[in-house]
Amino acid sequence: MGGKASKQDKYDTIIVGGGLAGLSLAALLAKSDVRVLCLDAEPAEKQLSATFDGRTTAVSWGSQKVLAAADVWNSMADEACPIDTIEILDGSSPVLLTFDKSEAGGESFGWIMENRFMRAKLLEKVLSLKTATHMAPARAADFHCDEKTATVILEDGRAFSAPLIVGADGRQSFTREKMGIGARQWSYGQRAMTFIVSHENPHNNVAVEHFHASGPFAVLPMTDAPDGSRRSSVVWTEHGPESVSAMRFDEDAFNAGLAARFPARYGSVKLAGDRFSYPLGLIHAHNYIAPRMALVADAAHGIHPIAGQGLNLGYRDIAVLAELVIESVKCGDDPGADELLRSYQKRRRADNMAMAGPTDLLTRLFSNSIPPVAAARKIGLRAVARLPSAKRFFMKQAMGAAGILPSLMREKNAA
Ligand SMILES: Cc1cc2nc3c(=O)[nH]c(=O)nc-3n(C[C@H](O)[C@H](O)[C@H](O)COP(=O)(O)OP(=O)(O)OC[C@H]3O[C@@H](n4cnc5c(N)ncnc54)[C@H](O)[C@@H]3O)c2cc1C
Repeated sequence: MGGKASKQDKYDTIIVGGGLAGLSLAALLAKSDVRVLCLDAEPAEKQLSATFDGRTTAVSWGSQKVLAAADVWNSMADEACPIDTIEILDGSSPVLLTFDKSEAGGESFGWIMENRFMRAKLLEKVLSLKTATHMAPARAADFHCDEKTATVILEDGRAFSAPLIVGADGRQSFTREKMGIGARQWSYGQRAMTFIVSHENPHNNVAVEHFHASGPFAVLPMTDAPDGSRRSSVVWTEHGPESVSAMRFDEDAFNAGLAARFPARYGSVKLAGDRFSYPLGLIHAHNYIAPRMALVADAAHGIHPIAGQGLNLGYRDIAVLAELVIESVKCGDDPGADELLRSYQKRRRADNMAMAGPTDLLTRLFSNSIPPVAAARKIGLRAVARLPSAKRFFMKQAMGAAGILPSLMREKNAA
């Protein structure tokens, strides 16, 4: 699938990293006739295999607009389960806070979709576009930049040039490191286990976030399995040493742990696939740009998945950068010009910081079992439940609709 011959030898933009962010940007640009080369270090077959990424993504309302603008949403929609209600529980208290789509103008808060499935559909789209070239395996090993072009040199010695190179190569971004850009980062000393379960009763499109003393436990509604069984995906956050992780439990002990944590209304629940584990931390690059280069998504910022917003923030970067690059290429201008890059950074850094700060606070507040903190948390949740303006604020954030969708997406969705 990957590693195919180039469709052209001139590019307007080279994207280093063909994960969900890199592929989405490639699709968005190439759909508007921008000549794009998307490189990924790993072979496409590996990235599409069942063991590569066990996560699901809560695709926000705003991110859905970006995927629709890239003409890829329609191919995904059947596998996307809408989130119509969000329930927040804390410890042994009953439901403390409920957000319902009827309070948000009747629009779903977002959709849950398997990363594996999203990746396959995005890759299919990129491969179908005339002005997109996808190469994998193709690991970036060095960069050069002169006045007019930036060049990426691959591990195998091949070299490609364009006026702009975008680093979409994830949290450990090689591009960021080579650009000499530092980052603020720390670990939460937590891991998120993710896996899919089947359950007896319907989930009714409800997402549950349950804050236990041992860490948040999220149940996210999925579309039914091909055999008709009802499914949800789980993000189970754990503290403490890996030696006591539930990853090590045998299947019976694991299912017993699940039964103890699941709301009773789901009926019987059991593991329906592999378990995956991800270390959790925060990272924010000091800069998103360097001469003829820009960082997007996790290469620029990564947050705790407590609010399911990491990739959604990445989609906002992609939307803004794509709008600037498409406009520049259409006008025959330079898509790697300093002014364009500065405009991208200006429009994205403050918004990303505005989400990273509260997410960090939320993580600390909800990962804490010290009695005064737990009490303050309950009081806070009850206060939000009674304050319509506070509820509206949180719903807007969950939907990723905080007013930053560029005109590119608005036009597409008005059509
Ligand atoms: C448990 C968990 C749950 C989450 N849930 C959600 C959610 O519900 N909603 C949400 O919005 N976000 C969520 N996130 C965050 C989300 O998963 C990430 O933001 C997203 O996967 C980042 O995608 P990316 O394409 O930027 O990076 P990556 O997925 O890391 O992709 C980077 C790509 O770059 C390639 N690469 C690396 N180095 C090189 C190189 N030198 N040359 C070429 N290629 C290279 C890699 O092979 C890889 O394919 C969650 C995260 C976790 C851990």
